[in-house]
Amino acid sequence: MADHTEILKRRLAGIEERIRSACQRVGRHREEITLVAVTKSTTIEVAAALVAIGVVDLGENRPQELWRKAGLLPQSVHWHLVGHLQRNKVARTAPILHLIHSVDSLRLLQALDEEVGRTNTKLNVLIEFNLSREAQKRGFRRHETTQVIPAVQSCRHLTVIGLMTIASLTDDVEKCRPVFRELRQLRDDLRSQLDPQHSLKQLSMGMSNDFEVAVEEGATFLRIGTALLEGLQT
Ligand SMILES: *Cc1c(COP(=O)(O)O)cnc(C)c1O
Repeated sequence: MADHTEILKRRLAGIEERIRSACQRVGRHREEITLVAVTKSTTIEVAAALVAIGVVDLGENRPQELWRKAGLLPQSVHWHLVGHLQRNKVARTAPILHLIHSVDSLRLLQALDEEVGRTNTKLNVLIEFNLSREAQKRGFRRHETTQVIPAVQSCRHLTVIGLMTIASLTDDVEKCRPVFRELRQLRDDLRSQLDPQHSLKQLSMGMSNDFEVAVEEGATFLRIGTALLEGLQT
């Protein structure tokens, strides 16, 4: 088995450096930001190596893969689901989750709230918005906030702690900036209309391609796969 620890440490240090520089440019604190390593394209061994060097927040985009990796890695890992969750997988997935970034329908929001109530547990969620207006993407459109607000207000058990978006993949990362800015504005807007229980402090935005711009625009969760794990699948 190849030992990827040194490569991972080096890549992590490089990413850290870029996060810190972006923070400095806009007067933010590094501590406000959580790096989620998205392990969807990598093996258990590589994911375990990440945990061993101190990365505790891991993300997956498919529930089945999240179940599998969660069963094999230490309990101390904070698991993030960043992709679509079907309602028939809610009961099995919710107990494993530290945070779901991708609540993309009112029915899923309601199903999660019911599950958390039924099991008398707690769950933090982010609502996913599709602000880049790509038809194939999931998430609410901006105009749907009028339906999202009452749906969140009627949740009795879970807590909405923020919003998530995925910017378009582009060579010119400056094109991502308006999308990140729009998510932050939308968050401020929603926050003023929701009960304070739903703190809405968090913004999950920024991936390998665009995380520095996301930090400059207020991201609190970065979801990074490729920049950390490229070429380490085997
Ligand atoms: C895969 C994935 C990521 C990580 O993307 P990279 O470009 O590899 O950093 C982030 N967010 C979501 C929702 C993903 O599916």
